[in-house]
Amino acid sequence: MSVANIKDRKMLDDLLAACRGNLPNVNEALITKAFEFCLEAHKNDLRASGEPYFTHPYEVAMIVVKEFPLDDITVVSTLLHDVVEDTEFNLDMLAREFGKEVAEIVDGVTKISGIFKGQEITQAENYRKMLLSMVKDVRVILVKFADRLHNMRTLEFVSADKQRRIAQETLEIYAPFANRFGLARVKWELEDLSFKYLNKEAYDEIAKKIKSKRRERESYIKKFSEPIKEKLDGYNLKYEINGRAKHLYSIYRKMVRRNKPFEEIYDLFAIRIILDTENTNDCYTTLGIVNQIYLPVPDRFKDYISIPKTNNYQSIHTTVVGPEGKLVEVQIRTVKMHEVAEKGVAAHWRYKENKTTSDKDLEMWVNWIREIFENASKEDARKELLESFKLNLYQYEIYVFTPKGELRRLPANSTPVDFAFEIHSKLGFHCIGAKVNGKIVPLDTILHSGDQVEIISSKNQHPNKNWIKFVVTHKAKTAIRKWINKEEEEIIELGKELWEKKTKKMKLSFDQNDVAKITASLKFDSTKHFYKSIAQGKINLDEVLTATKEQSGRDKDVHQLEFENFASTAREDIGGVLIEGKKSGLLYSYAKCCNPIPGDPVIGYITIGEGIKIHRKTCSTLLSISAKDGSKLVPVQWPEADSSLFVAGLTVSGDDSPGILNEISHAIVSYQNTNIKSININTSNNLFEGSVTLYVHNIEHLTRIMDRLKKLKGVFSVERFESA
Ligand code: MN
Repeated sequence: MSVANIKDRKMLDDLLAACRGNLPNVNEALITKAFEFCLEAHKNDLRASGEPYFTHPYEVAMIVVKEFPLDDITVVSTLLHDVVEDTEFNLDMLAREFGKEVAEIVDGVTKISGIFKGQEITQAENYRKMLLSMVKDVRVILVKFADRLHNMRTLEFVSADKQRRIAQETLEIYAPFANRFGLARVKWELEDLSFKYLNKEAYDEIAKKIKSKRRERESYIKKFSEPIKEKLDGYNLKYEINGRAKHLYSIYRKMVRRNKPFEEIYDLFAIRIILDTENTNDCYTTLGIVNQIYLPVPDRFKDYISIPKTNNYQSIHTTVVGPEGKLVEVQIRTVKMHEVAEKGVAAHWRYKENKTTSDKDLEMWVNWIREIFENASKEDARKELLESFKLNLYQYEIYVFTPKGELRRLPANSTPVDFAFEIHSKLGFHCIGAKVNGKIVPLDTILHSGDQVEIISSKNQHPNKNWIKFVVTHKAKTAIRKWINKEEEEIIELGKELWEKKTKKMKLSFDQNDVAKITASLKFDSTKHFYKSIAQGKINLDEVLTATKEQSGRDKDVHQLEFENFASTAREDIGGVLIEGKKSGLLYSYAKCCNPIPGDPVIGYITIGEGIKIHRKTCSTLLSISAKDGSKLVPVQWPEADSSLFVAGLTVSGDDSPGILNEISHAIVSYQNTNIKSININTSNNLFEGSVTLYVHNIEHLTRIMDRLKKLKGVFSVERFESA
C-alpha cells in the first residue's frame, strides 16, 4: 500500500507535520501505516455528508494531535478507531499489525460506543462513572472525546432524531466529563454544538444578537483597551489583550438561571490580559496600570495568584468602571497560568457535584492528565502517566442495565442473583435463571459494566444455600441467609412435632435433658440438628425410641437401687426415727411409696402386722389412707444429728470423658473440704450418669456444690436425689 492520491498525500503530510509539532518521539512509519490502513479499510464507505469515510478518523486524529497531544500510539489508535466496528478487519489483525496497545485502545473505544445506543439518558452521573469503569486506559476516553467532537461538528448531515439523541448524550455525558478532565475548550465546543441541536430557536436568537452587537462590543473593548496597551508598551511588557470569548450555551444558561434578558448578561464586559512572562510581579504591575486608568469597584478584587484556587487556578480578577460608566471585568495572568486555567481540573465540577471516594481517585487521575498537558516536554511525567493509564478507576463498581434500560450500580464481581436482589427481594427469592445481553447464563456468572441483565423467575424457585458462596452484595447475602434460617427453623419445628407425636403415642415422656442425652448418644451436635434429621427422615424413630425405652427401664431400676442405698445409709447415719419423741423398741419401717429420708417432715402410720410405717407428711398414699382412720397416725421425727452435718444425695449426668470422676470429686472436696460418702459413675453411649452422697452443713452448702458441678465441662445436669 502507498498513498498515491495527491490529496491523500497532502493529508498525511499535514498529519505528520502536526504530530512532529506537538508530540515527542513520533513513530512516523507507524502513523503512515495506520493512515494507509485506514484509507484502505474504509475505501468503500461514505459518511452521511457524502465524504469518503476515512476523512472522519483522519479529522479525529487531527483533533487528538491538537487538543490531547499525548503520544503517537493515541494517534494511530484514533486513525483505526472505527475499523473493527465498520469493516471486515478485527482486533487480532490490529494487534498483529500495530501492537497490543493499539488493539486494546480501539477495543475500548468500540465498546464505549456500543453502550449508549438506544438507551435513554436518565442517570448522567452514573453513565459517566460507567464509562470510566469500562475504561482501563485513559487514551480510550481521549479518542472518544475527539471522536464525539468531530461527530458533533458534522451532525448536520444525520436525521433530526439522531441529532437530538446524540446532542443530548453529548450535553449530559461528554461535556461534563470533558470539564472534569480539565478540557475546557472541548467542553465549550461540545456544549455549544449540543445547544444548537437541542434548542435551535434559542441558539439562533442568541447567535443573532451576539452578531448584531459584535461591532458595538468590539469598538467598546478597543476603546477600553487602548490606554492600557499604551502603558504596557511603555513598560516593555509582552502581552495579549482581548475580550473574553462568550459561549452561547453559557449565556443561555445564565439567562435561564438568573432569569434575565440577553442584554443584561451580555452587556457585562470582560477582558483578559495574558502576559508573556515568567515573572508574576508583571501581573501586579499590570494591575497597577489598569487601576491608574480606571476606578476599581471595591470588593471585586480577587488575587488568585498569591492564593491559588484548590485546582491550581491562578489569575487576578478585578472589576473597574470603564468609559460611559460601564462595568468591566478584568482578568490578568501569565501565559502559563492561562494554560492551567484552560486545561486544568474544572473548578465548576468540584463545587457543584457530590463526591465519593471514587471521585477522589478520579481527581488524582485528572491531575496527572493536567500535568501531562502542562509538561508535554517532560519525559518523566509522560512515562509515569503512561504507567498510570493501566490504573482502573471505579474498579470496585460495575454498572449494568435493567431490561428497561435503567442503570444499576453494583459492586465488582456481582452476579445475576445480586442484581435480582438489587431490583427487588421478591425477584431475588424466585430467580431461577438469567439472561445477560440476551444469552442465558448460570446464576453465578460474573457481571460486567454495560451488561444488560434480565432475570428469569419462577414462583416455585427458592434461594439455594450455594448462592451464599457467590453473591457479593450485602443485600443478597442477608436476604438469602434469613431465608435459609427461616426454612431451617421450620424444618426443626416439624421434626420436633413428629418427635412429640411419636413419644406420646408410645406413652413416653422426655424432658429437655433426656432429649439432650439421646441427641448426644446419637452423635448429633445439637437437638436442633436431631429434630432436623427427624424431619428429613434420616432417623428411624421407632428404633431410637424402643432402645431408649429399654435403656430408661434399666436406668430406672439402677436409680431406684441407688436411691434406696442412699436412703438407708442416710437413715442409719442419723440413727433412725424417734417415735413420739423418743427412741423406742417399736417395729417400724419406711414406706416405699414416698421413701422418706432424713430432713423430710415425717409421720407414722400404725399398720396391722408391719408395725409403724414412716411416710413423708406430704405423701399422697398416706393422705388417702389416713383420711379413713386418722387415729392410727403417730407423731414421728428425725433426731437431731450429732454433728452439724447431713447426708445429701446428688445425681450428675453428662458427656463421658476421661477423668470426669476425678473432676467431680475434686469439685466437691475442694469446696470447704466437703466429705464424700460415696460416688458412683456409670457410662454408656459416651454418656455418664453418676450418684454422689456427701455430707453438707446446710442447704446453702449443698447449693454451692451443685453450682460448682454444673459448671464442669460436659455436665448436663445436677439434681438432688429423689425417689424415682
Ligand atoms: Mn468515529
